[in-house]
Amino acid sequence: MSTPGTQATADVAARIEQLRKAFGGKLAIFGHHYQHDDVIRHTDISGDSLELSRRVPGLTAEHIVFCGVYFMAESAAILANESQEVHIPDVEASCVMSDMAPEAVVEAVMQRFAGSGRRIVPLTYVNSSAAVKAVVGAHGGTVCTSANADKMLQWCLDQGDAVLFLPDKHLAFNTADKLGISHAKRHVLNIRGRGRELDLDAAAKAELLVWPGMCVIHHRFKPAHVEAARAADANALVVVHPECSPEVVGLADATGSTSFIINYVADAPEGATIYIGTEINLVDRLAKRYAGTKTIKPLCVSGCANMAKITEAKLAVLLERLAEGTAEPVRVPEDIRKPALLALERMLEVGSR
Ligand code: 13P
Ligand code: SF4
Repeated sequence: MSTPGTQATADVAARIEQLRKAFGGKLAIFGHHYQHDDVIRHTDISGDSLELSRRVPGLTAEHIVFCGVYFMAESAAILANESQEVHIPDVEASCVMSDMAPEAVVEAVMQRFAGSGRRIVPLTYVNSSAAVKAVVGAHGGTVCTSANADKMLQWCLDQGDAVLFLPDKHLAFNTADKLGISHAKRHVLNIRGRGRELDLDAAAKAELLVWPGMCVIHHRFKPAHVEAARAADANALVVVHPECSPEVVGLADATGSTSFIINYVADAPEGATIYIGTEINLVDRLAKRYAGTKTIKPLCVSGCANMAKITEAKLAVLLERLAEGTAEPVRVPEDIRKPALLALERMLEVGSR
């Protein structure tokens, strides 16, 4: 006999499926790889940030429901056409890293560099608000994800004298390592006082100007975790997300986006033990998928509380509201949407090649 809790979950799941069926092709549910299985099982498209952005243009569904964090839903709203609306089951699901780059501070920093005589091209990680993407787009810059950061950084370097990479300093450094940009050519900005405390002399000598943001969920992975994994099993493989610190990335066997990690595990030989340094929902899903053939373990357990704000119950509530016509879509004002779209389109053009 099922317990009341599991019965309630089964009812919610059944209701979601009923509503999905009723909407048919008018509805597309997107889910990021960090969503819980209870949510992922109801999605039409699951993927990493690049894949999810790529899938929006050309989609015919009227309603796009985005199960992920807010900047992802905003990006989808920017890329959607005029007849489409994007929804998120919980508008409070923000990203702590994207919150580390407020738009007004990014604009103030760009203004301070304006008088330097050098062309600084801004490159924002997709984990940033629509308003920040708009600032970047207006200054001739673009967007990257963890899957194309090297390509996009190289493109930006080719456009100007230096690149302002934001908000993730770890991704900036890991990408610089990949492209062979020396430490002497990097400078981490002091953004205190809305950029008033910038060291313009040090910035003038750098090719890569780095915003001091990071993902706290990935910053939890430490070199000691990799060392402990190696001590437990000398043959174990270690794969981590590039939002981890360069020290952790340097000790790992491989690094890449969430899709890269999924493919890395798929390609590993049967019997392999793989430690993964990324959000726990993805690690748990892979552990279940390969149970009995490969041993998948978290480097340490680290969950994204914001991704977890999206639940099956909230998805059901949103779909009910959509059916009643009372759901509030994600809105991006036109003066932000236009330059942000420019920045995103540059990425989809260059970064998908
Ligand atoms: P991916 O683009 O690799 O899916 O990563 C998104 C993210 O937020 C990682 O923390
Ligand atoms: Fe943002 Fe980190 Fe959560 Fe990814 S894991 S959504 S970067 S807070």
